[in-house]
Amino acid sequence: MRLSQYSFSLVRECRCYCTVGRRRGPPVRSVNASQSTQAHPWHALESGIAMERLSSDATTGLSSQAVARRLLEHGPNALPEPAQRAFFIVLLRQFQSPLIDILFVAAALAAAMGHWGDAAVILGVVLANALIGTYQEGRAERSMAALRKLSTLQVRVLRDGGEQAVAARDLVPGDILLLAAGDAVGADARLIDAAALAVAEATLTGESVPVSKNAAALPEATGLADRRNMVFSGTYISAGRARALVTATGIHTEVGAIARLTEGAEEPKTPLEVRITQFGRYLVIAAIGLFVAVMVLGLARGLPFSEVLMVAISQMVSVIPEGLPVAMTIALAVGMRRMAARGAIIRRLSAVETLGAITVICSDKTGTLTRNEMTVSALWLLGGRVIDIAGVGYAPQGDLTESGAALAGADPQLMALLEAVVLCNDAELLPPGGETTQWTVLGDPTEAALLVAANKAGVEIGDVRRNCPRVAEVPFDSDTKMMATSHRSVAGPCTVYIKGAPEAVLRLCGGDGQAALHAAHAAADEMAGRALRVLAVASIDNYRLESAAGFDQLAGRATLLGMLGQIDPPREEVKVAVSACRAAGIRPIMVTGDHKLTGMAIARALGIVQDGDRGVDGAELERMNDAELLEGLDNIAVFARVHPAQKLRIVEALQARGDVVAMTGDGVNDAPALARADVGVAMGITGTEVAKSAAKIVITDDNFATIVGAVEQGRVVYRNLKKVILFLFVTSIDEVLVLLLALLAGFPLPLAAVQILWINIVTESTLTVNLVMDPPDGDEMRRAPIPRNDRLLDNAMLWRIAMLTPMAVAATFGWFVWRQSNGVPYDLVRTETFTILALCQWFNALNCQSASRSVLQFGILRNRWLIGGLALSIVLHAGVLYWPPLNALFHTLPIPPANLLPLVALASSVLWVEELRKWGVRLRRNGSALRKILPAAS
Ligand code: ATP
Repeated sequence: MRLSQYSFSLVRECRCYCTVGRRRGPPVRSVNASQSTQAHPWHALESGIAMERLSSDATTGLSSQAVARRLLEHGPNALPEPAQRAFFIVLLRQFQSPLIDILFVAAALAAAMGHWGDAAVILGVVLANALIGTYQEGRAERSMAALRKLSTLQVRVLRDGGEQAVAARDLVPGDILLLAAGDAVGADARLIDAAALAVAEATLTGESVPVSKNAAALPEATGLADRRNMVFSGTYISAGRARALVTATGIHTEVGAIARLTEGAEEPKTPLEVRITQFGRYLVIAAIGLFVAVMVLGLARGLPFSEVLMVAISQMVSVIPEGLPVAMTIALAVGMRRMAARGAIIRRLSAVETLGAITVICSDKTGTLTRNEMTVSALWLLGGRVIDIAGVGYAPQGDLTESGAALAGADPQLMALLEAVVLCNDAELLPPGGETTQWTVLGDPTEAALLVAANKAGVEIGDVRRNCPRVAEVPFDSDTKMMATSHRSVAGPCTVYIKGAPEAVLRLCGGDGQAALHAAHAAADEMAGRALRVLAVASIDNYRLESAAGFDQLAGRATLLGMLGQIDPPREEVKVAVSACRAAGIRPIMVTGDHKLTGMAIARALGIVQDGDRGVDGAELERMNDAELLEGLDNIAVFARVHPAQKLRIVEALQARGDVVAMTGDGVNDAPALARADVGVAMGITGTEVAKSAAKIVITDDNFATIVGAVEQGRVVYRNLKKVILFLFVTSIDEVLVLLLALLAGFPLPLAAVQILWINIVTESTLTVNLVMDPPDGDEMRRAPIPRNDRLLDNAMLWRIAMLTPMAVAATFGWFVWRQSNGVPYDLVRTETFTILALCQWFNALNCQSASRSVLQFGILRNRWLIGGLALSIVLHAGVLYWPPLNALFHTLPIPPANLLPLVALASSVLWVEELRKWGVRLRRNGSALRKILPAAS
């Protein structure tokens, strides 16, 4: 078997939906010779014999007892999760960093020079850093593992004589899988029967086009890629239906074999992770430059070599933002968790950051912008008859009226139309009973609504279906926009019933003359203009249709039976979400398979279409060349009657304009567009597994508003990371400047090396990671999307640094110089300087929470994690000040409590200056808002 380039993602995918941890689930057994595909050439056996070998039954499936027994025997159908790293391994990893190496060198130098206390402190700091890092990494890993559990795959099986939906991890050898287009294959299985089955196996074999499959036995020597009678775990059904006998599960599957090969492979870094690593590298260069500067200045001043060396090393360490990578992992994990809580399951980490940059959301209509609660409200029959149907919901209550009058007597035209839609239909209508007191439906709501309409007209659904059994079918497909079923009547000959989009069905119709077709087109447009979803229905007697390809031969041969218009009300919350999008600089675009008029009417009701916007349908899009499309994109708000392939073209055109695109999708054919979009969004309820696997996000409620919520969280994550970067920068620059100023101005060193280390490693790590837990500021969706090339340290941040650091440096250095010149003992002055710097850092953490809102405005308790971190940091600092053993180690003296007050007041200047700047920002904003309002008011 070839280990394809896709193997890693395939294994990740399978781990994603088979959620067992080595620690929790029953032990995964070693490869069992009796079960592995390689040991049993299942493809060489007739399906009946395979069934016998696994004691299964193609019509009833396994019994629950047999499943339970086999589950115990074979273990769950899951790939082993990468073992959770043991505590001490994670701890050891913390020591594998250049920063720690530098600190070890510093400790060794300190020891060599006889500064045993300093050496002990440096080692203590290294250990504390490692322990904090281990805790934070564990926290990040636990969050990720919890999130993986959210995407469990469901499969359909035959058990106890009936169809059931079960979790893929509960599959056992001998289970009968029921497969249909869009399904993911949950285990390796031998086909029992297959109808027009095609399977996408690219992830396993590298074969880029779907492979057609059948149940015929093959020679034993047939290679994996040619086993046309087998389906494999982790692949997808792209067309057709099949039943298959599960032959191998979990680690015994073909993907399990790859999992063993790829064990230990790491998930690729997200673009933001790459940028942050790069950013870190620049800082390391800056740190080395700083080391050289301090050494040169210190030695030129004639300060003792050992002291200068230790301080230079500590300074170097202070510039390296060692907390940043962990802070970023936590930020992404927190973002994912918050998104999951709001119904958006993140399947690729990179989606979290890309979401914040989204500039266009291309959304399906049905179910995403509308409620997908269909009700047939109007019928059109030949001769221009229009029948209105009253009532909402699935209960068969609602009168049928024609021109305001109740229908009188039997109406053969009406009955022919309604019986056709009952037959060409896979839905079921269930009366109240058991625990439900209401009528419910199974299957596609579009089809269920047709059954309800038939029921209201008194059609006996069961009788009609019994009298005309189905002998062939062409399932609905969003490319042809039609569905057809062939039925044998009691009399014998076959009839084909076709229903679908009016343009598609009317193209097949003849017989009734051009005038009738003309009238039908006009009626369809009229209904679509009223926001109705329209279906046309036709039939062909004495005909049997086996495949979608057969539609091509039918032009002009079908007889039109009538049309039905369905209401699908827009979702109320979407209107709010659409205006939130606009305020956030994001353009919503509807991309629908429905008619342009229907799409435009609904888009207008939701605010997606504004003055000057227009709709374009698939045929018009086909006629536009790329330049015309690019030019027109500015005011196209609705793409209607588009084929899935055209969705890809729309995404690419938007991206060519520089847009960052989120695209929703649910069908098999949507996968390329979902994969191409910057953020592919699959529907959790109606979405196929193929669509979900191609998407970066799955939304559990299929709701547009959920996508908008996820965008907001994406922005929060990015903003929080920038808060951390700002915080780290301000602190480092303060220390560096105070030190350099002292060296240049001929003062003794204002801080001991261990004090610098303490501030940078212990205090900082208690705050940075907690800063990323900040809740949304509330104005994320009133800002423009984050530019793709946004700098991690942008101009606004540089401005803040430029305003803050002089204040902090003046406070710290000014105090140091003043106290020094007043003859205060050097150790006490150093301790006070050290304390002012720590205080500045604490105030700064509060500053960094928002760029424009006052700390007093959003309340000190809004981020409890940060307050906890601050409290811990204060307690630790108090220990260093007032606990004698630590005094000795950190070269500190206890500061008399009364002296603390001026220090706090001085350091708080950092807060006040920032509050002043924020006030100015708010004033400017309000002013410009006022300027906008005033002309409008006058
Ligand atoms: P969206 O892509 O926004 O969800 P949609 O659901 O209307 O829109 P499709 O599902 O591709 O898009 O449907 C396109 C058209 O096909 C519909 O307008 C309707 O006329 C027809 N149609 C939809 N469902 C069926 C079905 N089950 N059988 C026959 N025709 C259907």
